[in-house]
Amino acid sequence: MTTLRLILGDQLNPRHSWFARHRPDVLYVLMEVRQETDYVLHHAQKILAVLAAMRDFAGQLTAAGHRVHYLAIDDAGNRPSIPANLDLLIAHHGVTRFEYQAPDEWRLDQQLSRYAGTLGMPTAMVDSEHFLTGRDDAATLFANRRQWLMEHFYRHMRSRHQVLLQDDGRPLGGQWNFDHDNRQAWPGLPHEPADWRRGHDHRALWQQIQAAGVASFGEPCADDLRWPLNRAEALEHLDAFVTQALPHFGSYQDALSYRATRLFHSLLSFALNTKMLHPREVIARAEEACRAGDVSLPAAEGFIRQILGWREYVRGVYWANMPEYEQLNFFDHRRPLPAWFWNGQTRMRCLAHSIGQSLAQAYAHHIQRLMVIGNFGLLAGLDPAALHRWYLGVYVDAFEWVELPNTLGMSQFADGGRLATKPYVSSAAYIDRMSDYCKGCHYDKRDRTGPRACPFNALYWDFFRRHRAQLEGQHRLAMVFRQLDRMDAGTLSAIEHKVRSLQDFETL
Ligand code: FAD
Ligand code: SF4
Repeated sequence: MTTLRLILGDQLNPRHSWFARHRPDVLYVLMEVRQETDYVLHHAQKILAVLAAMRDFAGQLTAAGHRVHYLAIDDAGNRPSIPANLDLLIAHHGVTRFEYQAPDEWRLDQQLSRYAGTLGMPTAMVDSEHFLTGRDDAATLFANRRQWLMEHFYRHMRSRHQVLLQDDGRPLGGQWNFDHDNRQAWPGLPHEPADWRRGHDHRALWQQIQAAGVASFGEPCADDLRWPLNRAEALEHLDAFVTQALPHFGSYQDALSYRATRLFHSLLSFALNTKMLHPREVIARAEEACRAGDVSLPAAEGFIRQILGWREYVRGVYWANMPEYEQLNFFDHRRPLPAWFWNGQTRMRCLAHSIGQSLAQAYAHHIQRLMVIGNFGLLAGLDPAALHRWYLGVYVDAFEWVELPNTLGMSQFADGGRLATKPYVSSAAYIDRMSDYCKGCHYDKRDRTGPRACPFNALYWDFFRRHRAQLEGQHRLAMVFRQLDRMDAGTLSAIEHKVRSLQDFETL
């Protein structure tokens, strides 16, 4: 009697109850499989980091005395799909029961449940024991509401999980949300903390990946791969973040700078999404630092909201709306991505920096993703499905359950406002207020229609002109439409002319 337990590449949680005791009748299986390296074109660091972390995890399980079968990318007999490999392993090891942890991605969930249904043996899907909510909890909370307000969900989570609360159940500090304190530009001080991440040399693995013919883009940094590859390293990262960056997280969480890539963000998303860290322990560390007086309440609250609020909330949006969500395109935007999404070569300094950094590091912080790259995508009318594939490929932390609602919903408003209360778009004024990008840019942040005018400006007004019928009813946009109404015909026509002159955006 042998039970095969499949562990996916984003299920690297050594504290899962599966591993609490040794079972000689259980065979753990991890596989480096082409269906996973190839379902979208991935950044080289994402492929490297996931495979290196899987190898590390398999090594730990073996060292702890568990039976493990690891299929490496270049193993003879490694088939391109998970089911094909499972078929071989089940036959080879005389497997009589199949178990897997609930996948976070719809495509894998479908594939594995279909596969399990074809096996003439007992099967079970068990909880991944990672999230603070069940797949359907958000849908239950928001039953019959058209709009899913994150703030409502977040307050519910604070109460339910007793986070940052006073003894009487009210929020610590008397308010739930310190967002208004958390919107400062970064003047260059305090200094961005030195990169606390340890480098790994994974040139041999990178050669194996290349020899297997896996396509990728972006800088592999195989000799200095800086993502945490196991729980011990992830805990070191968490410590470094809490002591060095969290105190300033709140103030500068919306800031952008040409002189910094991470600012005071945590870089914990890869460790969280691969389940090396549990969200509860990350939240607890931030709360402890706050209660000990090492971190201000607005900083701790701002950070905790991202994990207890946004992260669980977008997962709920994903499971409530898949598979239809992927096809949504509220504005019917169809333009392909300009070629500079793949090389960062544009004269728009904000985009050159944010995309260039993404290609070099497989990382950009939230405001770069939302208010620079996503902002341009939405104003320019880029195809949200093509953008989704780009975001899903480029970031080391990109797994569809979290990437898709952020890209299609929050950033591109492709769901018509189910997730975001208004489109996240801005002209150059916002980018200039929050960054130092505009100083030294080829384009003029103040000009709307001249030859060197910042493209964001004309695109911004043209976006609201084009989509007036769909957006006019939103009360948060009333001011924008009033401003549009005050523009004379000559100004409007100059804006339209300017936008037409940008053509396919290739030469910006
Ligand atoms: P921090 O700023 O330090 O935040 C702490 C943690 O909070 C993050 O590690 C993350 O786990 C969580 N978090 C913060 N914001 C969000 C959010 N909006 N949704 C879910 N969790 C959040 N996040 C991903 O994990 N994977 C993605 O593929 C992804 N794609 C995105 C695409 C777009 C268009 C946008 C606008 C955002 C996306 N995000 C994604 C959310 C967010 O940008 C990243 O989680 C964050 O930048 C990761 O860096 P960090 O760990 O330094 O985050
Ligand atoms: Fe970006 Fe426009 Fe500012 Fe240049 S001027 S950095 S393109 S917002």
